[in-house]
Amino acid sequence: MLVQARVLRRIDHLKCPKCDYSLWNITPGPCPECGHPFQPSDFDFKPGAVAFTCDSCDQTYFGSSSRGHLEPKTFTCVSCDRFLDMDAMAIMPAEGFVGSHMLQQVIPWSPSRGNLLKRWFLMLGASLGSPVRLAQGLPPTRGLFIGIIFLLLNLVVFGLFMALPFLLLTGIALGGVTGTAGGRALSQTIVLFLLVALMFIFVILVGTLMVGLLVHVMIVLTGRHEKGLSVTLASLMVTSGPLCVLVVPCLGLYASPVIIIWWFINSVLALKGVHGISTFRSLMCALVPMVLIVGGFITLMTLSL
Ligand SMILES: [Zn+2]
Ligand SMILES: [Zn+2]
Repeated sequence: MLVQARVLRRIDHLKCPKCDYSLWNITPGPCPECGHPFQPSDFDFKPGAVAFTCDSCDQTYFGSSSRGHLEPKTFTCVSCDRFLDMDAMAIMPAEGFVGSHMLQQVIPWSPSRGNLLKRWFLMLGASLGSPVRLAQGLPPTRGLFIGIIFLLLNLVVFGLFMALPFLLLTGIALGGVTGTAGGRALSQTIVLFLLVALMFIFVILVGTLMVGLLVHVMIVLTGRHEKGLSVTLASLMVTSGPLCVLVVPCLGLYASPVIIIWWFINSVLALKGVHGISTFRSLMCALVPMVLIVGGFITLMTLSL
């Protein structure tokens, strides 16, 4: 009997069994309406369908067990180091996760995941495969830091791949020149290359920050939203996986529209997920700043010519 009652209580009705009061986002204990005690393990959920929230730092964890519960039930918060017990955590429906078969809290960027290279690879996979889940799972306190590191690594590694053919050609061209003249030409080329590389990284990093700032202003101006500026910025940065297209030899620069559109779509979906806003609003909030900045840049270029 008891088992059956549990099975029937699915995600869409997390209600007090006694008075029907909605228990979403309420810290377990007595029901606020009638006082009947409840805890998350009284209910079954579709795996991954609900998020458990740390009440001191707002970090969320998705229930991955067959009952949609956390495994293990007790653990230390990855974000604030507090000791957590699943049965003392408030639960929220995890929109967008219902029906998918995911199921573990995924923060590829945690020291337990291995060295820098391994973490970067895991982040890249998550950024390309499940950008919304990645953005939603970021720890609120370190999310922006993780986003910046990830974007920087993408720019350095993929930028180097993009520059490789040019470097080889320059190397071959300079190979014929020997002596002092050759040495000077080589050092000049290296300096020039480093300058161009730094410019490339600087422009994209600052561009992303500027777009992010405007996107967040748009989100604030258009109504209710769930997270702050740092989450908006981090969402734009962790969705930068499409920069990997730059590795295709000689195609890198010509492929930039593909990269921009792919990155843009991923970030629109991520913003929708983290702020709990509609797809249309997320699209508009991301599109307007992009048009303003790209348009402004083109105007500047035209004027300066
Ligand atoms: Zn009640
Ligand atoms: Zn916490």
